[in-house]
Amino acid sequence: MALTVDHGGGALITRTKPDDEDDLLTVLVGEDKHEFVFNRGTICKKSEFFRAACAGNWKESAEKIVHLPEAHKEIFGAYSDFLRTGKVSLNIKGVSDVEKETNQHKKQMYDRFIVAYALGDMLLDASFRNVVMDELKSWMDTYRTNVFHANLKTAYDMVLPSSKLMQFFIDQWVDANYEKDSFRTYSEGLPHEFVLELACVWSEERNVDRRKRLAERKTRREGTCTYHDHQSAVEETQYALDGMDAGLALLAASH
Ligand SMILES: [Zn+2]
Repeated sequence: MALTVDHGGGALITRTKPDDEDDLLTVLVGEDKHEFVFNRGTICKKSEFFRAACAGNWKESAEKIVHLPEAHKEIFGAYSDFLRTGKVSLNIKGVSDVEKETNQHKKQMYDRFIVAYALGDMLLDASFRNVVMDELKSWMDTYRTNVFHANLKTAYDMVLPSSKLMQFFIDQWVDANYEKDSFRTYSEGLPHEFVLELACVWSEERNVDRRKRLAERKTRREGTCTYHDHQSAVEETQYALDGMDAGLALLAASH
């Protein structure tokens, strides 16, 4: 092993004997340990999680193998493609145009977007989350469908309530304009936290010109960066530090 780690002044890494293998990082995904191999420089530049995995005095940094048993193989594959191309495709292969219009398929697609977004959270990769968000919006424009109850349950299980993705789902529902009775029917299966969020927005708007709010929200929804995570330089530094802690905590928890 060609790495030495000095703990005197933090995690200082000295590469004493560089060789080709030093530049590779293997990621084993899912319970069946599907293997992905990356250039370490590329993946560490993109993700604080992998930077933490490579930098510390962890089993992962010595073996150059990271285990992600909880991650979804196909979604991680989409992340791997994103690292190479900058693009994300979450489409399921071999699905006919007719099937694509079914609610069953739409629910599956929503879940894939949510799982991908959660992966971007776990890997501390804001640029991936932002591209997933763009893809989701463009997919929804094509298929004209609001998010289903079952998907919101998935979202609350996997994604932070303060995330831009949840904000997007709330904005969609707030303006969905259901009649009282249909809202009663539709809301029965919604997660409690979600109904509470909707109630808060509506309550806040009860004394204002609702049409004005709708127009403002429409403009906001259509803004390119409304649901992106962009940080100022200061926030980005803090984000990187938090990311390092979170990444190390995740690694520690996996042992
Ligand atoms: Zn943006």
